[in-house]
Amino acid sequence: MQSHYDVVIVGAGHGGAQAAIALRAAKFAGSIAMIGDEPEPPYERPPLSKDYLSGDKPFERILIRPPAFWGERDVAMRLGRRVVRVDPQAHAVTTDDGATIGYGQLIWATGGSPRRLSCSGHDLAGVHGVRTRADVDRMIAELPGVTRVAVIGGGYIGLEAAAVLAKFGKQVTVLEALPRVLARVAGVALSRFFEAEHRAHGVDIRLGVAVDCIVEEAGRAVGVRLTGGEVVPAEMVIVGVGIVPAVQPLLDAGAEGGNGVAVDAHCATSLSHVHAIGDCALHASMFADGLPIRLESVQNANDQATVVAKALTGTTDPYAAVPWFWSNQYDLRLQTVGLSTGHDAEVLRGDPATRSFTVVYLKAGRVVALDCVNAVKDYVQGRALVLAGATIPPDRLADASVPLKDMAA
Ligand SMILES: Cc1cc2nc3c(=O)[nH]c(=O)nc-3n(C[C@H](O)[C@H](O)[C@H](O)COP(=O)(O)OP(=O)(O)OC[C@H]3O[C@@H](n4cnc5c(N)ncnc54)[C@H](O)[C@@H]3O)c2cc1C
Repeated sequence: MQSHYDVVIVGAGHGGAQAAIALRAAKFAGSIAMIGDEPEPPYERPPLSKDYLSGDKPFERILIRPPAFWGERDVAMRLGRRVVRVDPQAHAVTTDDGATIGYGQLIWATGGSPRRLSCSGHDLAGVHGVRTRADVDRMIAELPGVTRVAVIGGGYIGLEAAAVLAKFGKQVTVLEALPRVLARVAGVALSRFFEAEHRAHGVDIRLGVAVDCIVEEAGRAVGVRLTGGEVVPAEMVIVGVGIVPAVQPLLDAGAEGGNGVAVDAHCATSLSHVHAIGDCALHASMFADGLPIRLESVQNANDQATVVAKALTGTTDPYAAVPWFWSNQYDLRLQTVGLSTGHDAEVLRGDPATRSFTVVYLKAGRVVALDCVNAVKDYVQGRALVLAGATIPPDRLADASVPLKDMAA
């Protein structure tokens, strides 16, 4: 094993994989190593709460590239190892097996780990986060003995898992602290639509409830106690309450940040020769009024990886890609473009009862985002409106008989 590489990528997930792919595509001829703490080569994370959990896609089909690809591209894979220390002066990282690896350039692409509950019982057997293949394999192994599932957190991951498990015939209860599901990422109309869909599939959606603790019996979770004293019985508890970005070694090394590592428009951190990308990168986004945000999406990880690969091969394009995201629940495909955070109006296009409609989000009269449910044309055409920050009267936007492409100024 070499002890120095021109580029060391920490994190073998979406961003890390794309960084290596983009570097080689840009004819980068230097040495590259990728260090990842999971044992698997890079794989797609979105199917973990969708078709991998449901069994519709085997693991081989969610690999980002076939295992042989990395050797063919001369990317040294150091898997099953965790970087615990970064020495920015010596330009070296140390892994948990004590090895020190020098770098010319470091790309930090570590994502995050599921935020854990702080209440008692949070670490019992039967309590699961959903972030890695190992997490989901543990869930799948337990499912035959499970009748009732409690999902804590009504965000995308919790709702996707709820949809799969409801289809499996499990009795699923979603426990959401806020007054509606998806409250942090979508407007009221979309929340109400998904709540109704889940209820129609037999999922018990409980809003505005607070968890007191996980109830234990013989070392296993048997339910979730709410603060009012009620116990929701469950042999499996899924916790989907966000992630904590995996940036401690970089912050310890002096990088600026907090909830993520701060990066500039080229994904450079405050440490020289260190870039950060993906879920862990705190960047000022023009789609969030220039405020520093972390985006947790494949789009963001891939596009930031490409920006860094270009920067390291001589092209300095700032990161300015339009955010997009998707979620699959039952037979519904939600596609989002732009960021709806801070919107002050939402316009409904089409009728949710038809299960094909769009919500257009406006801020100070400008289109900032769209949530499109089974409405791929609106999703594709709406992108231009978000990019342009188009100002279109709400009654015109609401007219689903007029394609969005005909509304651009
Ligand atoms: C269940 C689930 C469903 C999702 N669904 C969608 C979706 O539908 N659409 C969408 O756009 N996005 C979705 N996402 C989000 C998307 O998967 C992430 O935004 C994306 O994976 C981010 O890529 P990343 O490279 O930043 O992090 P990751 O893909 O998480 O990769 C980071 C890797 O680094 C490793 N690591 C962490 N610390 C260290 C260390 N110190 N040393 C070595 N390795 C380390 C991690 O274990 C991990 O393997 C989903 C995520 C999950 C978990």
